[in-house]
Amino acid sequence: EPRIAYIRDTVTSIQDYPKPGIIFRDITSTLADAKALHLILDLLTERYQDKGLTQIAGIEARGFIFAAALADRLNCGVTLVRKQGKLPRAVHSQAYSLEYGNDTLELHKDALSSTDKVLLVDDLLATGGTMCAAAELVQRTQAEVIEAAFLIELTGLPGRQRIEQSGVPCYAICAYD
Ligand code: 5GP
Repeated sequence: EPRIAYIRDTVTSIQDYPKPGIIFRDITSTLADAKALHLILDLLTERYQDKGLTQIAGIEARGFIFAAALADRLNCGVTLVRKQGKLPRAVHSQAYSLEYGNDTLELHKDALSSTDKVLLVDDLLATGGTMCAAAELVQRTQAEVIEAAFLIELTGLPGRQRIEQSGVPCYAICAYD
């Protein structure tokens, strides 16, 4: 698929960031490329336009960018899954483990309900911990999670298996080892 090849070529790979041995996949160069951004949204729109989605849930912070743009294409609302302490009303909270320590994601309790069909969106899938926590939050509102979508999947890590084992289908536009 030439569109995927074009998008993949816009990602910048940064050696030894944020620490030695890690290759960081920097998507700021992708976002800055108008054609790449357009193609990403075309691919996501084609995949999700007939799924009856009501809300696109973006994960802070880069997930917000794709969630907002896609929601406009699909006539959906945007739901924010945020880091701890950022949302002003009553929240569901879900802790998850990082390589060092823990973090917590939150979702307004009244953001979604049983009639919602939700697509979760983030920029990159690594271990899957972030997305599993986000899916758990959405499911606690009784909303239905239709899929978890990413720009990039790191296939050398078991993130996809972890998400799919929790019963949530997974889609990524491009992959790196
Ligand atoms: P996971 O929870 O799957 O291990 O990590 C995924 C989260 O970390 C995502 O929210 C993503 O934004 C961030 N992340 C981890 N590694 C990278 C990377 O190489 N590039 C980018 N853009 N984000 C990353």
